[in-house]
Amino acid sequence: MRAREFIIEQATGAFELRCRSILSKLASLVEPEDRSVISTVDIWISSNPTDADKIYSSPKERVVVVDQEEFADAPVEVLIWLLAHEVGHIVMNHRDKIPAQQSQQQELDADDYATKLTLKLGINKVPVFTWLGRKKDELGRTELERRRAAERDPSLQDFWKDRSHPTTDRRQQRAQQQGMELSKVNTDQIDQLLKHMA
Ligand SMILES: [Zn+2]
Repeated sequence: MRAREFIIEQATGAFELRCRSILSKLASLVEPEDRSVISTVDIWISSNPTDADKIYSSPKERVVVVDQEEFADAPVEVLIWLLAHEVGHIVMNHRDKIPAQQSQQQELDADDYATKLTLKLGINKVPVFTWLGRKKDELGRTELERRRAAERDPSLQDFWKDRSHPTTDRRQQRAQQQGMELSKVNTDQIDQLLKHMA
């Protein structure tokens, strides 16, 4: 686990309660096998300005770490989707530090898990992907800008091959195939939220 020193010990605020109640709700929606895993998952509230990932999980330790500053104002459906994604990593016992291709597959699997759970809750419009599409890469470009740059310079087409996360386009397409209706609302607010989703 990264950056333990930023974990807020015994956080008991409204944000932590919201995360915990979402986790219980998610546990109630899954099959007993998954429920037995999710019921042991802990939420750690952090506040770490230096950590690039603002929400991430450790399947080994069965912990989801959420940055309070980053997500305190998140629309609840976004927080639900993100927590479901992290819970997906834990339920499927995903591993850290694996080759990019496997890592990308894990991300897609966690996305699928989150989308299915979110649909069960009747949440059918989640602005997560709208935001993700506007997320900037390490070079400070959005995916759209990157695609345009790659058209001019073919060497840039390999850019995403080594990344741990699949492209937003691909993630979005999958969510749509699974029946999620994507919302274009809330983009300004979402901009502030999901900057670093692991
Ligand atoms: Zn992930």
